[in-house]
Amino acid sequence: MRRAEDVTFGNSQLDRAAHLRRKADQIATQDDALALAVWRGKLLMDQESCALIHLPLDHPLFNESGLGRAFLGQLDDKPIFAIDISDWEPEGLDPSAMSAFLDPTDNHHAATDANQCFREMRAVLGALTPEDAHLGATARAVFSWHNSHGFCPRCGGKTLFSDAGWQRVCTACNGTHFPRTDAVVIVLALHGNSVLLGRSPGWPDSMYSLLAGFVEPGETIEAAARREVFEESGVRLGRVSYLASQPWPFPASLMFGVKAEAQSTDITIDPEEIENARWVSKEEMVECLAGRDPSLSPARKGSIARFLIEAWMRDDLD
Ligand SMILES: [Zn+2]
Repeated sequence: MRRAEDVTFGNSQLDRAAHLRRKADQIATQDDALALAVWRGKLLMDQESCALIHLPLDHPLFNESGLGRAFLGQLDDKPIFAIDISDWEPEGLDPSAMSAFLDPTDNHHAATDANQCFREMRAVLGALTPEDAHLGATARAVFSWHNSHGFCPRCGGKTLFSDAGWQRVCTACNGTHFPRTDAVVIVLALHGNSVLLGRSPGWPDSMYSLLAGFVEPGETIEAAARREVFEESGVRLGRVSYLASQPWPFPASLMFGVKAEAQSTDITIDPEEIENARWVSKEEMVECLAGRDPSLSPARKGSIARFLIEAWMRDDLD
């Protein structure tokens, strides 16, 4: 797909500069070093523009403690870090919001400007620059991994933050562990003029998206696409071809977007996996994308599902 890297999280100029990770402590003392702030998966951003806030590393906000300081790379030769302050306990925190499908609340810290807040990145994907999307996705995914890997999967010993955030080392067996990315296949399944969409329980009302699922060990992307779509909808797929990818740091996926020709159209859903599935024609999708169909709202802007659906509508999948 020619425009594959136009997807959100693609096309960024960030140089991840992995060779500098060993020198990160020294780089952090440079005057031009800046850091993003991360709190429980949310990023500090401008409340209006949603631009990520880059702060000097000695900013008072970073007196709060958390999971550590990760080196994300360089932008225009300037070093960019991300610092986690998840130990901060805001006053009046609503625990039910944190467990919602998408936490709608903004969290303000007294050390930042009044127009800056911690907010779920997933709510603002369409507003992010390619660089902010790349930086934010990386920071979110890396700290999410640290948060759930405090103990060694080999021996159960305590692990410590290492290599500027790109490793954890076991204090008992000295084993090293690296941030994981889980492969997910997401399928633009087509039949004639229609695309197959489904919805999971718990999604916002009437939201439908492309069918997707984790690639299992030992499986190709193509086989996973055929298996997932058949399991969830009963639809058989023929030829499967790759279109584009997107990191999806909620918490740790890499989405492989593929196109597939459906060989059958009858739908039998697996209620364990999805709530409903349906074929949607291009004409119906025009109404859906325009917000004129109350029974069908589209995948969120910025998601690869939305990107692929819009490319299909434009006949721009090559
Ligand atoms: Zn160990």
